[in-house]
Amino acid sequence: MTQIRDSIELDFCDVLFRPKRTTLNSRSEANVTRRYKFKYYPQNIISCGIMAANMATTGTLAMNDVLQKYQAITCLHKHYDFSDAENYRYIARNYDKQESAHNSYTFISTGLRDDKEHLFKLLSDKNFKIDKLCIDIANGYIPKLADFVKEVRNKFPELLIMVGNIVTGDMTQDLILSGADIVKVGIGPGSVCTTRKLTGVGRPQLSAILECADAAHGVNGSICADGGCTCAGDVAKAFGAGADFVMLGGMLAGTDESAGEMIERITQTDERIEEDGEMVPVLKKEIFKQFYGMSSKLAQEKHFGGMACYRASEGKVVEIPYKGSVENVIQEILGGIRSTMTYIGARDLKNIPKCTTFYRVNRQLNEIFGKS
Ligand code: 5GP
Repeated sequence: MTQIRDSIELDFCDVLFRPKRTTLNSRSEANVTRRYKFKYYPQNIISCGIMAANMATTGTLAMNDVLQKYQAITCLHKHYDFSDAENYRYIARNYDKQESAHNSYTFISTGLRDDKEHLFKLLSDKNFKIDKLCIDIANGYIPKLADFVKEVRNKFPELLIMVGNIVTGDMTQDLILSGADIVKVGIGPGSVCTTRKLTGVGRPQLSAILECADAAHGVNGSICADGGCTCAGDVAKAFGAGADFVMLGGMLAGTDESAGEMIERITQTDERIEEDGEMVPVLKKEIFKQFYGMSSKLAQEKHFGGMACYRASEGKVVEIPYKGSVENVIQEILGGIRSTMTYIGARDLKNIPKCTTFYRVNRQLNEIFGKS
């Protein structure tokens, strides 16, 4: 018989942090990084835990250039061809800039349908200094994924492996025990995702993070909360719920460092001026940048040579008002998290969940003057 789980499932908008007595006097005392240790990967990294999604728009080399300065991670999208000399050289150059023995903040990505031989050759290449791999498929429950993780782990015992996506504790542990260091959590919360509409499948992201973090930490693994963050407060809530890393797409899109077509639009404002005796609307130029889901029809056409007939689009295309450099965005996010930490008394990133109590709320914002 069909079962219904009727315990309450929560999203970021359903909770707020409870402020607590704190020993921090100012946000400058909050350290928005932590030292990460992993189940299999033998090195430690110090990071702020924020990751740029491995989408064609946000997982770019330009994004990597900027984010690594903030100890944030970029998962390069899988369409970079590293047999191309220019891309290959970038990795070596970037490695020279890093103090550690690897490109600390850079993952490469693969799906299950990509060229396995080519990937293994690249990862075995001693001159290719990336030792972090994101294995990313929409439905992390298929058995082929866990098999592939086992195969990669066997071949590369010292690789940092992140894999997803799932939303339940059982599958989190299954993937970690198969060889993953980090499991990516999120089905359907993404800003350009239409999976929930098309398939009816998904889970509110905060509850998914709570359950998967608990399951992962029980077997010495880590999780990355992937999708659904709309503002710095949501990123803080993801950390509060136990996420070790938080992956962002939409929040980093529309920036100089993201890829995507620039679109210029002339729009009419409500203001009027007189021109040749007539009152005409004042025009304003607005700049947007295109952002699209990796399962959208546009992505399929751009990167996979068209949509396979057995697939339906599970992503959409949007235009985001141009934001300038991603530096502004990352600084705002880190500033927000620092402030959260001051309110709840967390001295470093690792302490956020320990200091977190959430209030369940039915309204978190006052929108009298519209959404902002
Ligand atoms: P955002 O931060 O924009 O809310 O979510 C980013 C995440 O959305 C990505 O990391 C990825 O997991 C997911 N995503 C990206 N493109 C698509 C898509 O076309 N369909 C679906 N279902 N999810 C997508």
